[in-house]
Amino acid sequence: MDDDEGELPEIEYLTVAAVTLLPHPGDVSGPPCMVRRRRLPERLWRQVRPRPPSDCCVYHQGDWRELSAAAIRLVAAAKAAGLTNVDAISEFVREVRSKELDARGDHDTLPAVGVDALVSMGLAIQPGGGRPQRYYEGRHRVIAMIDAGVHRTIVLKSKPNPAWVE
Ligand SMILES: [Zn+2]
Repeated sequence: MDDDEGELPEIEYLTVAAVTLLPHPGDVSGPPCMVRRRRLPERLWRQVRPRPPSDCCVYHQGDWRELSAAAIRLVAAAKAAGLTNVDAISEFVREVRSKELDARGDHDTLPAVGVDALVSMGLAIQPGGGRPQRYYEGRHRVIAMIDAGVHRTIVLKSKPNPAWVE
């Protein structure tokens, strides 16, 4: 190990992904409503017959169609404003989302933290890491999104950093 604080070999970035094409999270141990595997026919069926939000667990409580749509729209706005760094984008999204929720008098917690969790480093849905889990973050949210028939959402990915020299 060294303690070099220089450039990292990878750059992380937020991008839009089709939920049906995301890997199925493996081996989710609970809550019970999350454990069952959702195969492709069911995923496609849910795209036209979404399961509405329910109180069975914190994941299924979220209106992931609305949350994902807001995250996609606000990340696009942040990028249009010239932001590329994930922390800068998530800060932008948090501020704009907060103003929008205030403007419509929505003071529930989930609409704010749900979007924040989709766009923040360390919280965003992050495919990768191989089997059995197939995600670094967001396995339960992906299952909730499959059930809710969400078409597209925001995920965190990484790519080689051209500025990084070993
Ligand atoms: Zn549930």
